Amino acid sequence: MTPSFKLSPSPASGAWRPLPAVPIALTLVLGLFIVLGHDGRRALQMLALALPLIVWSAWPLRSAWLHRLRTLSTWWLAMGFVVDGAVRHYLWSQYRAAPDSSMVLGALANSRTQESGEYLLTNAPDVLWRLVPVLLAATVLAWVLRRAPRWPHGGLAWRPPRRLVVAVVAVLLLVAGVAHASKPWRRMHPAVFWSHWWESALQLRAGWTQQLQLRERTLAEARVQSPTLAFDGPATVMLVVGESVNRDNLGLYGYPRDTTPRLAADRERLGEHFTVLHHAWSVDASTLPALHNLFRFGQGERGDAPHLIALARAAGYKVWWIGNQDDMALEALHAGLSDRVEMINRRPGRGGETLDGELLDEVGRALADPTPRKLLVVHLMGAHPHYALRCPPGANPFEDADDAVDRQLQAAGRSAWTREARQQYDAALRYHDSVLSDLLQSLRGAAPPDGRAAWLYLSDHGQEVGHEVDRAGHSATTAAGYRIPALIWRSEPVDDAVASRPFRADWAAWTLADLLGLQWAGRDDSRNVLSGEYRWQAPRLGVAVAHFDR
Ligand SMILES: [Zn+2]
Repeated sequence: MTPSFKLSPSPASGAWRPLPAVPIALTLVLGLFIVLGHDGRRALQMLALALPLIVWSAWPLRSAWLHRLRTLSTWWLAMGFVVDGAVRHYLWSQYRAAPDSSMVLGALANSRTQESGEYLLTNAPDVLWRLVPVLLAATVLAWVLRRAPRWPHGGLAWRPPRRLVVAVVAVLLLVAGVAHASKPWRRMHPAVFWSHWWESALQLRAGWTQQLQLRERTLAEARVQSPTLAFDGPATVMLVVGESVNRDNLGLYGYPRDTTPRLAADRERLGEHFTVLHHAWSVDASTLPALHNLFRFGQGERGDAPHLIALARAAGYKVWWIGNQDDMALEALHAGLSDRVEMINRRPGRGGETLDGELLDEVGRALADPTPRKLLVVHLMGAHPHYALRCPPGANPFEDADDAVDRQLQAAGRSAWTREARQQYDAALRYHDSVLSDLLQSLRGAAPPDGRAAWLYLSDHGQEVGHEVDRAGHSATTAAGYRIPALIWRSEPVDDAVASRPFRADWAAWTLADLLGLQWAGRDDSRNVLSGEYRWQAPRLGVAVAHFDR
C-alpha cells in the first residue's frame, strides 16, 4: 500500500499501520466480488448496501468486547457479499442465468439432495477452483477486521479535520440510508436476497405438483372439447406478443417519427394480406393479467376456462413457446402447456437485457421442424422499461431530436426527463419494428406451399410516455396504458372491413382460433375480429374511454 497516510500507533498490536487500511481493504475485497456478480448500476447499488459495513469498520471502538462483536458480525455480513458475488458469477458464466431466474430456482426446487450431490461431484473441478478466491477473501477479511481501529491511547500522528470526517460519514450514511430505504434496492442485500431465494425454491417445490396437475387438467379439458380443424393440409401460425407498445408511437399508426420503416414497407408489399387494426385495446395495463386473459379467452381469472395452447394441441398442433421474458408464473400457467419451451433470457422479471433479435435463431429452428401443423408463440421484451436497454447501444436515431414530437411535448409542459424517455422509447420501437419484420419474413419464408400460414402481432398493454401525463411507464390510469397495436398477416387475403373494427386483446384468442382453423362447441365468432358476425362490446378499463374507435 502506498504510504500516503501518516502512521499511527496501534494500541491493539503496538505496530505501526496506515490509518484507513481496514475500510480500504474491506472496500477492495467487497468491490471485487460485487463487480464479479453484478454489472453497472447494480454493482453501485450493492456497494451502497455495503457502505454501513465499511463505515462501521473504520469507527474507533473503546470496548474490547464491542470490538470482538464487530469483528465477528462484520465478517459474516461481508462474507455474504463475497459469496453472493462468487455464486452469481458462477451461474452467469456457466448458465447465463441469475440465481432467481426460473431456470435456477426450478432446477433447485426440482432436484433432490442426492442429485445436488451428484451435480457438485461432476462439477467439482470448476466449483473447487472457484472456492479458492472465496476462502482467500474469508482469510483476508478475518485478518483485516481484527485490526479495525480501537480508540487510540496515544495521540494520532495524523488526524483528519473533524468537520471533514463528519461530512464524509454523513454522506456515506445518507447513501446507505437511501439504499436500505428503497425496497427493490434492499432486496438485493445478500442477507435478504438469499434467505428469500431459499424460501422461493421451497415454495416453488410445494407448488410444483399443484401446477403440474393444473396443466394436466387444462390439457385434458381441451381434449374433451375435441376441437377439429376447419381445413386439411399443413398450417403454420405465429403469435407474436409484444410488450409495453403504445400504437400512437408507431409510424404505421401515423406517428410523425419514423419508428416502423420495415413494417410500413411490408404493408406496401403485402397488400390485402396485411392488416393494421387501427383501434386495438388491451383491457389490462400489466403483463400477467393481460396474458392470462389473452390465452384464456378473456377469462383470465378462471383456472377452468379453455386455454388457447391446450386447444391447439388437442387439435393436432405442435406448440412452441419462444420467450425473452423469464417469469415463473408465465412459465407455469401458459408456456408450460406448450410442447417446447425456449427461454432465451434467464434473468427473472422484465429487467433482462437480452435483445429480442436474439430469439430469431430459435424461431428459425422451430419453423424448420417437419411437423405439418405448428403454432409458435413468440413472447418479446418489446419496449418494456428501461427503454434504453431495448435496442442495441448507439442505435437511437431520435437522440436529441428537435422535431415536431419534441416540440409538442414541450408545448404540453413535459419535463426534459420525460422527453428523453420518449426518445429512448421511440428508439426501442424502431428496433422492435425490425424484429417484427424479421419474424414475419421468416414465417412467410417457411410457410407451407400447399397449406396456410398466419401471423398475429399485438402488445400485452400500452405505455404512458408523456402522452397524457408527465411520466413514463406502465399506466392503469391513462388511456395510453391500453392503446396497443395489432397486426395480422395471412396467406389468404383479409377483408377490408377488419382494419377499422375496434379490437380487444382479451378476445384475441377467438381470432387466433380462426387463424388456426379450430372448430369446437365453444367457438364464438361474435368475438372474432375476422368474422362477419363480429359484435364489438366496449371493455371496462381502469380509466374511462369515451371513444374506442379513435
Ligand atoms: Zn407487459
